Amino acid sequence: MSKTTTQHAADIINNFGSEVDLEQEQVEESIRDKIDEYLIPARDAKDLVEKEIKQSLSEDAETEEESQTKQSSDTPQPEETFNRQLIEDIDTDTAEHDYLVEVIELWEPTSENIGQVGLIADGSDVTKFTIWENLDLPELKEGEVYKFKNAITNLYDEQYSLIFSNGSEITHAPDQAVNGRGMDGVIVDIQHGSGLIKRCPEDGCTRVIRKSFCQAHGKVEGEFDLRIKAVIDNGLETQDLIFNREMTEQVMGFTLEEAKQQAKDALDTDIVQDNIEDEIVGDYYKVKGTEFNQYLIVKDAEEDKAIDEETLNTIRSRTTTNHTESQSESVKA
Ligand SMILES: [Zn+2]
Repeated sequence: MSKTTTQHAADIINNFGSEVDLEQEQVEESIRDKIDEYLIPARDAKDLVEKEIKQSLSEDAETEEESQTKQSSDTPQPEETFNRQLIEDIDTDTAEHDYLVEVIELWEPTSENIGQVGLIADGSDVTKFTIWENLDLPELKEGEVYKFKNAITNLYDEQYSLIFSNGSEITHAPDQAVNGRGMDGVIVDIQHGSGLIKRCPEDGCTRVIRKSFCQAHGKVEGEFDLRIKAVIDNGLETQDLIFNREMTEQVMGFTLEEAKQQAKDALDTDIVQDNIEDEIVGDYYKVKGTEFNQYLIVKDAEEDKAIDEETLNTIRSRTTTNHTESQSESVKA
């Protein structure tokens, strides 16, 4: 018998002990959010939430240290937000953005004015960074992950790199993985279990059910959901993709409610999967997402209609894999 979200939340609170002030209800809600967002089992969602709490605690500690050394500034700082941008999307000089990066190499500075210089990667691309000596920023270590806030793009010799100013911040993010990545290619397959599906409504289960039967909970009244399990192929490699409800609605241009109507009209829920297949198989997409097991959980998808027919045909003809339903279904399917 798997644990309920309530039990998982209680475990988390227990693990952190009484030193940390956590609300049962809030922790439960966070777990449910993760389940909904990533379509993962409750125990994986619990791990994610635990990780995030750990991370926010270490950030709080750092911020406290900072404010002690800096003493109070005149105006209270507004709640800081972190809007992650990918290195591969850098295309403007002197633009300020936030990045989540891993330091992959540190170089010997060639000038006294340089505090640190080296290479950073974020799963989408690699670029150079330079921290000037006069800036009060923490020392970076190789192999560690950091959040860069308000880092500045610098175009030199046709190459972009990142530099920093007094308005930039760098925080150590030991619990974050730099694994977001993107892929461009042709959608070559829609896998079974796409379209209009039903999930087990039991607390934290979210398993996709067939014929009102959940493997863990037996006969249940399922709840409708919408998703796409697809395979994208760039001619060199293939990647399994998962579009959650929101991404599916965005890509397909119909909502869950409309999908239900399609199924009702056709007296067949499979019609939705067929419609998805008709719409996107063979099309060229640029997708970005988070890696999870063998899947890329899609966070951003855009069809590239500008790609010319010849290129498209070349990729299509190169894609030889026989795409069948993936055997290992680690995201509960
Ligand atoms: Zn169930």
